[in-house]
Amino acid sequence: MHHMTLAEIARGLADKKFSSEELTRTLLARIAQLDPQINSFISLTEDLALAQAKAADARRANGESGALLGAPIAHKDLFCTQGIRTSCGSKMLDNFKAPYDATVVSKLAAAGTVTLGKTNMDEFAMGSANESSWYGAVKNPWNLEHVPGGSSGGSAAAVAARLLPAATATDTGGSIRQPAAFTNLTGLKPTYGRVSRWGMIAYASSLDQGGPLARTAEDCALLLQGMAGFDPNDSTSIDEPVPDYSASLNGSLQGLRIGVPKEYFSAGLDPRIADLIHASIKELEKLGAVIKEISLPNMQHAIPAYYVIAPAEASSNLSRFDGVRFGYRCENPKDLEDLYTRSRGEGFGSEVQRRIMVGAYALSAGYYDAYYLKAQKIRRLVKNDFMNAFNEVDVILGPTTPNPAWKLGAKNSDPVAAYLEDVYTITANLAGLPGLSMPAGFVDGLPVGVQLLAPYFQEGRLLNVAHQYQLHTDWHTRTPTGF
Ligand code: GLN
Repeated sequence: MHHMTLAEIARGLADKKFSSEELTRTLLARIAQLDPQINSFISLTEDLALAQAKAADARRANGESGALLGAPIAHKDLFCTQGIRTSCGSKMLDNFKAPYDATVVSKLAAAGTVTLGKTNMDEFAMGSANESSWYGAVKNPWNLEHVPGGSSGGSAAAVAARLLPAATATDTGGSIRQPAAFTNLTGLKPTYGRVSRWGMIAYASSLDQGGPLARTAEDCALLLQGMAGFDPNDSTSIDEPVPDYSASLNGSLQGLRIGVPKEYFSAGLDPRIADLIHASIKELEKLGAVIKEISLPNMQHAIPAYYVIAPAEASSNLSRFDGVRFGYRCENPKDLEDLYTRSRGEGFGSEVQRRIMVGAYALSAGYYDAYYLKAQKIRRLVKNDFMNAFNEVDVILGPTTPNPAWKLGAKNSDPVAAYLEDVYTITANLAGLPGLSMPAGFVDGLPVGVQLLAPYFQEGRLLNVAHQYQLHTDWHTRTPTGF
């Protein structure tokens, strides 16, 4: 049962082959048995899951249908869930039970999904390895000595290990696409504003976007359908109609113009990954796509700009966690100053503290113009590069990451080495564009992802290309040994 995709589950439930309750019990047992190896969950919500599964079965018995009705999923632990711990991977919020559901959570619940639990993540979504969680590192099911990617590493590892078919995730600089690449999944970061951020604990508000992690593009279409849409509670949510993502999966790729940026194939890219990317390009050419070399000349400036803007926004967003308004409070504070400094010093881990300091510095008087303002100007140049490219091509293709998943601990002493691994993903967040990563092969037994980027609101086009590719390749069907 645990090998089924969301689409297969939907058919099985509709055909009454099994009930949502049976499936939910099977997956909960599987999580109890296997999750200790990978640590992908922070909280399990068995009672809620069984209640939702029974309710979904009752709705089906009453004649209701729907692709997500009775489908088991999990939420990254930064989506607020009413009455359930929402920790953001931090000691700071270990005691925080959200008083309300995030819009994504309530929309998916209304569609009939069953919440099995809350998944592990890098603390406050800062990271690319899922090693900064207060609840311990997550391990990659493909090789337990390697990282699963981050910050949505728990969602990715759980889906890759077949503990559940799909999960929610968020992407500020790559945290859906990069763990998808590292664990052989399909992950979609939607256009900024497509999915509501209300109730999603903020890291960098102008970059954060929620989206689906699943094994196939077909499943990403189903989950995105349940997540996307205008939300008056989020002032950056966009009031655009949500298309039927499943309906566009089968479009032909004949004549599709794919741009391949020449800057993507520079020295930093593992040549074995470059070979797999070229193989995926050949496959898409066979399906009728036309390949064109393009240029994104400002790409080299994107990492420094991102690592000014994201920490700057984080330093502001995280000021509310002070032991008074939200979060952990230290024992026996001497005075107010001591309460603030010790609560924050003890509640936040070192990567979060590093980013708060970098961000506060970049925003301070005298440095604002030199760092923050300059970074915003680079952000515009990065966006302009994409606008120029999309005058000539329909999608942009390249690697998701320059290297496969690294060994646990390998980059702990050098944060900049980890930041550099985000080179292919962060530009889409700076520009607000949609991006998808899909399985494209293996290097030393570790999965490799190919990334597709499209113009604003063209999530359907990304899913269409990925689905057609997946109809003609079988990388996405490979299962890690032992799971
Ligand atoms: N690795 C990036 C960072 O650490 C992106 C994280 C994310 O997308 N949440 O900021």
